[in-house]
Amino acid sequence: MGWDGRPIPYWLYKLHGLGQEFKCEICGNYTYRGRRAYERHFKESQHQNGMRRLGIPNSKDFSEITSIEEARQLWDVIKEKQAVNKWRPELEEEYEDEEGNVYNKKTYTDLLRQGLIYTTKRRCISQQENDCVHVKKLKV
Ligand SMILES: [Zn+2]
Repeated sequence: MGWDGRPIPYWLYKLHGLGQEFKCEICGNYTYRGRRAYERHFKESQHQNGMRRLGIPNSKDFSEITSIEEARQLWDVIKEKQAVNKWRPELEEEYEDEEGNVYNKKTYTDLLRQGLIYTTKRRCISQQENDCVHVKKLKV
C-alpha cells in the first residue's frame, strides 16, 4: 500500500527496491528498507559514526561496504597502498646478497660500480616484486 492508501504499482515497488532489505553491520546491524535509503545512508551520521568507531575514514572507497570485517580489510589495503606511495626507493629499497647482507639502494649502486658485487636472477625481498634484484658478492 502506498501513502494514499492505494496499492503501489508493482513496477514502482520494484523501481525503488522497496522489497529489498539491507542490513548494515557498521550501523550496528540496522536494517535499511529499499535500495535508495540504503545507498543514501552511507553518507548519513549513523554510518559515519560507525566508521569513526572503527577508526576508518568514511571515504567513497567504503561506500557499499556494510561488513566490519570487509571495511577493516579494505582499510588495511588502502593503508598499504599509501605506504608504498610514500616509499622512497633510493633510501628504502633493499637488496640482499647471498650471505643475507642487506644493502640500501645507494650502497648497492656504489658497490656495483666498484665491481664488488654483481646481480643475478631476480628475487624479491622488497615490497615491489618487479623491482627486486638478487645481489651476489664477487668472490675475492
Ligand atoms: Zn551503515
